[in-house]
Amino acid sequence: MPSMNWYHDDIFDNLGAFWTGSEVHVGNSKTEVVPAQTKFWSISGMASAYYVGSETQPETSWQASYTLINRTGNIFPDYTDSWSHKKASDGLRTDWNKVTNPVNWDNNTRGTAISQYINLYGNPKWDWSNYQIHHIQPRAYGGTNDISNLIPIPASQHSLITSWFNGY
Ligand SMILES: [Zn+2]
Repeated sequence: MPSMNWYHDDIFDNLGAFWTGSEVHVGNSKTEVVPAQTKFWSISGMASAYYVGSETQPETSWQASYTLINRTGNIFPDYTDSWSHKKASDGLRTDWNKVTNPVNWDNNTRGTAISQYINLYGNPKWDWSNYQIHHIQPRAYGGTNDISNLIPIPASQHSLITSWFNGY
């Protein structure tokens, strides 16, 4: 049995030494989650090691999934609008910067947004007072009032997303 620490070429560098010595045996698999070292995405990966004959290097196969996290390591509390099927994570990026002059948002712009939503997706006949209009790219980070950047979200769910952005 060879003893080794080894690294996958690219993203799995972030996982560090994935396999060590005695862990390397047929049928073993392993999962690691790495927060906040990968520009706000955590990676969870699984690798399988297998030997062929007397090879000294095991082969691996990799599977990875990506989870959006903020700098405090919290997973984005995604929300899907059941009427438009839009998600709060649609177009969400991890490299936005704060701007000095966010666009204005008031009852007027909110009313316009609701009208545009109904024109685009049809009328869900909601009580809109139960909904807040969330900016997918927050205004503080340069987001506009364009309907493509907006999604209606119930207040309780919206506050989870607002909190997440506090750790952005
Ligand atoms: Zn919001």
